Amino acid sequence: MALIRKRRLTEQQQRRIQKQHKTRQEDLDTSDDLEGLVVQHYGRQLEVQALSVPQEHPIQPEVKDGEPDPFWKPIELGSVWRCHTRTNLELLVTGDRVKWQADPNTGLGIITAIQPRRSLLTRPDRYHKVKPVAANISLIVIVIAPLPEPAPTLIDRYLVACADADIPALLVLNKCDLLLENDDPRLKLVEEYQSLGYEVMLTQANSDFSELKTRLDNETVAFVGQSGVGKSTMINAIVPDAAQKTNIISENSALGQHTTTSTRLIRFGENGALIDSPGIREFGLWHLDYDKIDHGFPEISAFIGHCQYRNCTHTHEKQCAIKQAVVENKVLARRLDSYLRLVDEITEAQQKN
Ligand code: GDP
Ligand code: ZN
Repeated sequence: MALIRKRRLTEQQQRRIQKQHKTRQEDLDTSDDLEGLVVQHYGRQLEVQALSVPQEHPIQPEVKDGEPDPFWKPIELGSVWRCHTRTNLELLVTGDRVKWQADPNTGLGIITAIQPRRSLLTRPDRYHKVKPVAANISLIVIVIAPLPEPAPTLIDRYLVACADADIPALLVLNKCDLLLENDDPRLKLVEEYQSLGYEVMLTQANSDFSELKTRLDNETVAFVGQSGVGKSTMINAIVPDAAQKTNIISENSALGQHTTTSTRLIRFGENGALIDSPGIREFGLWHLDYDKIDHGFPEISAFIGHCQYRNCTHTHEKQCAIKQAVVENKVLARRLDSYLRLVDEITEAQQKN
């Protein structure tokens, strides 16, 4: 009798151990997990859009006559799920591609893995720590316009930030209907950037931005530029429900106070996506450092190290390779000016700290 009981217990224990082992295995095995895209994040909680569906969809429990329908959210392509992340994962941001599991009984999901990132936009927080903002942006559209008058140093700043994030830039001169004539200085400015090797485009709202729309179709884009240049007009034309979608989120979210600053991804066209937030629109105005600046002025950094003095400031020195390059029309005086201004800015900021 005693022996039998002992054996039973052992069987039970074995079964329990096996079951625990199996759950752990299932926990670790993410091969059946779904593909997803983080479309919004509020701190630790995220919204994930389903990019795949399970091979075998979970079966909705049967409901007897007269009983209320229990909650059930089918896993559909494109559906958006509020998710938590496994604690071992790094901080996820809007634009991240993830592996995740959905629970139709609760409508909640759990993110189990993060896919490698093509790019990561970061900004320093107020303690000078690097904070991730958005992942996988493939193109930054820098918008300028005849009005407000473009500030070339600001454009250069954006280009520095793009180079630093290793994301290509597209410089768009919008409101071309306001250009005066063919030799308008704003056109000249754009041509200068084109000859430096940057991609440029001319647009105007009354032409529907169709060329831009086509260009952006396979990209994950962010728009930056001074207020008033036409970013919202452009975004509304390319991503028709952008404004609307943002509103829906702030109405429904229990975390409403975060929604105005949280970064949102909205898909458009065949395979395009827009990543937008007030913070992203300030991209480029964030803190810089010396190395980053050199990256953003490739035509100038080509001459760095060729000056007579190793610590040349490229201002008053007689034997300066960069100033010589300006004389020889290899570097634009205006670009050197911007470069020096940005360097000064960092030096001042460092002296303040
Ligand atoms: P944002 O601040 O960069 O988002 O700029 P908005 O999209 O709010 O545009 C600022 C103003 O410029 C609005 O009054 C728009 O109607 C106007 N605007 C936008 N695109 C064009 C354009 O191509 N031509 C002209 N003339 N005005 C435009
Ligand atoms: Zn020099």
